[in-house]
Amino acid sequence: MFENLTDRLESAFKQIKGEGRITELNIAATVKDIRRALVDADVNYKIAKEFTDKVKDKALGNKVLTAVSPGQLMVKIVKDELAELMGGSESDFNAKGNPAVILIAGLQGSGKTTFSAKLANFLKTRSRLSPMLVAADIYRPAAIDQLKVLGEQIQVDVYSEPENKNAVQIATNAIREARSKNKNVVIIDTAGRLAIDEAMMTEVANVKSAVNPQEILFVVDSMTGQDAVNTAKAFNDRLNFTGVVLTKLDGDTRGGAALSIKYTVQKPIKFVSSGEKLDTLDVFYPERMAQRILG
Ligand code: GDP
Repeated sequence: MFENLTDRLESAFKQIKGEGRITELNIAATVKDIRRALVDADVNYKIAKEFTDKVKDKALGNKVLTAVSPGQLMVKIVKDELAELMGGSESDFNAKGNPAVILIAGLQGSGKTTFSAKLANFLKTRSRLSPMLVAADIYRPAAIDQLKVLGEQIQVDVYSEPENKNAVQIATNAIREARSKNKNVVIIDTAGRLAIDEAMMTEVANVKSAVNPQEILFVVDSMTGQDAVNTAKAFNDRLNFTGVVLTKLDGDTRGGAALSIKYTVQKPIKFVSSGEKLDTLDVFYPERMAQRILG
C-alpha cells in the first residue's frame, strides 16, 4: 500500500537532500513536488494545497537551523504534518457500557461484516470483553450467514432474526438478549447499499436513535479514494458518527482516503483493517501511518 506515494515523496526530497542549505528556492521546488504527489494519490487539491502551504511556512521558519540538514528537516516537517492531517495522536475507543453498543455503518462491500467480526475478536482477545454480534441486514440473507460463519470462527455469539424485517426491533431485541447473557459489548452490523440511498440512511438513523450507541463506526474501502471521502461526508451528515474504519489497506490504495477523511469530516480514523484474516485489526496511529507513508 501507498508504494506510489512513498516513491513520489522520496523523489520529491531527492534534490533538497543534496543541498547544503535550505533556501526559498529549494523549499518551493520540493513543496511543488509534494503537492503533485498528494494530488496523484487522490488527495483533494484544496487539502493538498493547504498541506504544502503549512510545510512551506514551517520550512521557511526553520531556515536558520543549522543542526539538521535541509533534507532531514523537510522530511521531519512533512512527517509531522502528515500525522497532523490524519488526526495527530490516536483517538479513544469507548467500549464501556452495560452493554456498550457499537453501530457499524457503511456501503455494501466496504468490509463492514468482516470488520465487525474483527472488532469482536479484538475486544474479546485484547480487552477481555464478552461481545455479541448482531446481524441487522434485513435485505440480504447471505449477510446473516456470513456473520454467523465469522462468529463461529472467533467463537462469538451472533444474534439474528431471519424472519424479521425491522432492523430497529432486531437491534433492540439483541441488546435485551445481550443483557440476559451477560454480554458487555454489542456490535451491530447494519445493512449497506451499493451507493448512498435514502432508505438505508433512514434505517441506520432509526437504529441509532433506538439503541443510543457509544460508538458509531463508519467503514470505508480505502481503495475508493475520493469517493471514500464523499461517502464519509454523506454518512457523517446523517449519522454524526464517532469514528472511521479504513479497510483494505492491504490492497492497491493510493492513500487519498487515509489522508483526506479526517480533514473533511473532522472525525478520527479509529481502526485500519488489512486482509481478511480475523486477527489483523489495528488501532490507527497517525504518527505510525505517517512514518509508513514516508517509507
Ligand atoms: P460488507 O458488505 O460491507 O459487509 O463487506 P464484507 O465484509 O462482506 O467485505 C466485502 C469483501 O471484501 C469480502 O470479499 C471480504 O472478504 C473483503 N474484505 C473485507 N475487508 C477486507 C480487507 O481489509 N482486505 C481485503 N483484501 N479484503 C477485505
